[in-house]
Amino acid sequence: MKIVIVGSGVIGLSTALYLALEGFRIKLITRNPQEATSWSAGGMLAPFSEGLEGKLFEFSYESLRMYPEYIKLVEEVSRLKIDFWRDGVFRVVLKGEEGLIKKAEQYREKGYSVEFLERMDYYSEEVVSIIRYADEGWVDVEHLMDALLLAMEKLSVSMEIDEVVKVELRNDRVERLNGLRGDYTADYYIFCTGAWTKELFDIPIYPIKGQAIKVKAKPVNVVHYSTISYIIPRSRYTYVGATSEDVAFLGGNTVEGLSALCANAIRIVPTIKSAEVISTLYGFRPGTPDEKPIFAIGTNYSILTGHYRNGILHAPITASIAKSLIKDKIKSVYFDYFSPERF
Ligand SMILES: Cc1cc2nc3c(=O)[nH]c(=O)nc-3n(C[C@H](O)[C@H](O)[C@H](O)COP(=O)(O)OP(=O)(O)OC[C@H]3O[C@@H](n4cnc5c(N)ncnc54)[C@H](O)[C@@H]3O)c2cc1C
Repeated sequence: MKIVIVGSGVIGLSTALYLALEGFRIKLITRNPQEATSWSAGGMLAPFSEGLEGKLFEFSYESLRMYPEYIKLVEEVSRLKIDFWRDGVFRVVLKGEEGLIKKAEQYREKGYSVEFLERMDYYSEEVVSIIRYADEGWVDVEHLMDALLLAMEKLSVSMEIDEVVKVELRNDRVERLNGLRGDYTADYYIFCTGAWTKELFDIPIYPIKGQAIKVKAKPVNVVHYSTISYIIPRSRYTYVGATSEDVAFLGGNTVEGLSALCANAIRIVPTIKSAEVISTLYGFRPGTPDEKPIFAIGTNYSILTGHYRNGILHAPITASIAKSLIKDKIKSVYFDYFSPERF
């Protein structure tokens, strides 16, 4: 069976990996591998710090539990080492944010591992306390994306650099994809086109831009997730994120965005002010009206998008749902929960 996957972000690549390992013939079409938002993500695997609830929390927590196996698999296939930390995330509580403690207590009552820590000396006066969500972690997304791309080569997934400009649909069947460089046909099609999905389908996806900075200092050795800033240590530098802007696909880093990132990080850990800036980055989160993914299904195609702020976290579960659908003909309940029909 020949499958075409459109999009080479973490969702498209992970889906291609899982299906290629099952023996399916995969062609991956991507406009530009470097354009994927996945490269710019913080890599936090943090459903508790994000304060997720209901089905979205269940989906995210299931994916968090799949992460160690997923990383092992990507490492085995690519033979690259991926930095992956499972030390828990520090949810920073600022003055006036006591509601976060209540939320943490609710998670603890449900049996999840939650600790309340004393504030350390390196915090600013604005930091009241720290909640440690022990199950959370983070991954170096540049390592992960490099390894996924290399895995494509090792598994002989053919990569086509092209932009799909039209999906020829008849009676809920994809007949052909029109690319700028040619047309494509397959037995099955999967669209993992992130924030750009609305260019191909009439579903409510829109970009929410995020800017971030890499700095040369390690003021902390665990992720500090606060409402105004994330400070994420990686082996070679620290990642400081992220803005959240509704500016369509307006690219580039802005003075306003970068100054807010710096000021907010200093408000959490003041010593970061003397860190040297290495580089800046930005990406477009695939947003949806209710901030939940959109999983659509047709006769010979599916659309897996709308992962918004948590696409890195959601990669293993999304890829395994695609695998079950195609290999075992099992339609996950998440196709119902995250159906575009809800809008
Ligand atoms: C600053 C920032 C920080 C973030 N931090 C985190 C975090 O800590 N944890 C977390 O889990 N998530 C985080 N996210 C969210 C996460 O990055 C996204 O949810 C995720 O990357 C989406 O992956 P994707 O594969 O769906 O899309 P993308 O990575 O954007 O990939 C889409 C791909 O589709 C291709 N494409 C699109 N249209 C076409 C077309 N017509 N033809 C051919 N190719 C096409 C693009 O070129 C691209 O390669 C963050 C996002 C940002 C911006």
